[in-house]
Amino acid sequence: MSFVAHGLKCSSCDYREDHVFYRRSDGPPACPDCGGSRSVNWGHGKFPGVKGGGLKSFKKVDLGAFGVCETQEQYDRAMGAIQSRFPGKQILVESDSATDKRTRADEARHRQWASRKEKGLNNKMVAEMKAEAKAVKKTLKKGEKVHVSSAGTKITQAGQSNG
Ligand SMILES: [Zn+2]
Repeated sequence: MSFVAHGLKCSSCDYREDHVFYRRSDGPPACPDCGGSRSVNWGHGKFPGVKGGGLKSFKKVDLGAFGVCETQEQYDRAMGAIQSRFPGKQILVESDSATDKRTRADEARHRQWASRKEKGLNNKMVAEMKAEAKAVKKTLKKGEKVHVSSAGTKITQAGQSNG
């Protein structure tokens, strides 16, 4: 079983989509716009095929340029990399069952929540650092600079290295 990623072109409405992942043996999925059949838009250029026991099998999946995945963790990382490389693009994994898709959606929601939480904490840290910098600045002498980072606050003379 192997997966491929192609640019597809709809033969009915001319809708084009880049980097659609699908199982080679199933052929290109129908047009999301009109449901018409699609063919590979070779003008789009080549993209590494995906070979292995199938995505989600974790037997060892070769994601081409994105590396070989031997664990769920590696697979998730690779899929994340693919998704971030092609923002807004749909990555079709044809072997996914409805349950797999639900699980994936739940995981994505959790990741989003975790990243928002982390960002919120970071914002709080930045606010604290800024407040600290402001307090320190009041005590600075001429030519002194204040460097504030998560490691703490440091005062240097202007021109001095920031090491
Ligand atoms: Zn179409």
